Amino acid sequence: MIKAVLFDMDGVLYDSMPGHVQAWHDIMSGVGVESSKDEYYLYEGRTGHSTINLLFNRTFGRDATPEEIKALYAKKTQRFVELEYPESKPMPGALEVLGKVKALGLQRIIVTGSGQQSLFEKIETHYPGFFDKNLMITAYDVKYGKPHPEPYLMGLKKGNLQPEEAIVVENAPLGVESGRAAGIYTVAVNTGPLPDKILWEAGANAVYPSLHALAEHIEELIVSLRKL
Ligand code: MG
Repeated sequence: MIKAVLFDMDGVLYDSMPGHVQAWHDIMSGVGVESSKDEYYLYEGRTGHSTINLLFNRTFGRDATPEEIKALYAKKTQRFVELEYPESKPMPGALEVLGKVKALGLQRIIVTGSGQQSLFEKIETHYPGFFDKNLMITAYDVKYGKPHPEPYLMGLKKGNLQPEEAIVVENAPLGVESGRAAGIYTVAVNTGPLPDKILWEAGANAVYPSLHALAEHIEELIVSLRKL
């Protein structure tokens, strides 16, 4: 019996991935790390710490020091805020999906690796009445980050849910892996530049090209899962 939908935020509720990608690219270029913009879509969901170490190892053959990690992640967050605010862009179709999910009587929980201070206020501005501040997992709550199942397991725990009582909506391959590793039916919406194949290979149970497409199919999806 499906009781809840666990929503990832960047690339699902917000069209914010271009901002994150640009911010990462700018900050890492600044310390001599060469990277392609598309590769950051593959890293989406990792902790900042693990993304920085991956790039440092490739470029300099060593982990970053804790001081470097702290400074770079702070700069990246700052750069993202500069690029993103004041006009955060809600993802087209997300409101439609949320309306249907609410009408079906399902709980809405956010599970994100992001951690800006004013996150809930922003969400409440664009999606008023759809979310509960106490039903959110953010960067401040997790230790491992995606693709570890931890963030989605914490989401289940907050909602007092079993894995078979929820579905996950994700856009990122590592997020899909995390949802599946937590034992949850995971829907991918491909809102970025990566081929669908990468989302299927990450274990997605279904792949939709957009939130609009998911909105069109979500009622039948929930009904069919309720019959299982
Ligand atoms: Mg995402």
